[in-house]
Amino acid sequence: MRSNLITCPHCGKTNRIPTAASGHPRCGNCRKDLPWIVDAGDTDFAEIAERSSTPALIDFWAAWCGPCRMVSPVLDKLAQERAGRVKLVKVDVDKSPSLSRRFDIQAIPTMLLIRDGKVVARQAGAPPAAALRQWLDAALAAGQP
Ligand code: ZN
Repeated sequence: MRSNLITCPHCGKTNRIPTAASGHPRCGNCRKDLPWIVDAGDTDFAEIAERSSTPALIDFWAAWCGPCRMVSPVLDKLAQERAGRVKLVKVDVDKSPSLSRRFDIQAIPTMLLIRDGKVVARQAGAPPAAALRQWLDAALAAGQP
């Protein structure tokens, strides 16, 4: 099982959190919800995104993509603001040809919201931060039991 180090935005403690787990990560020190931001690719996408019990926001990006560099910090911020409610999963399209084909990624960045293994929302291109926030909140609200 891979893990990432994430600094708690509330108390500053460094936490080691797994890339996949049931539920969502909390700070070992202050117990607040931690932002969950992980990388995934062709081999581990099913485990990290499709079997996630927390809705997964997928960011298809590439190192050479200018708009991706604009969207990436916005997504990081949204993952922080919505800690515990969403898991941000970053997929480098150049390293994940199977996923790119399977999800028919024509433009990057493309964002997907996956809940219980199903794509419930899709957004291509790089909208302004406010529009992206609205899209994510609508996507998170859609299909809730
Ligand atoms: Zn903390």
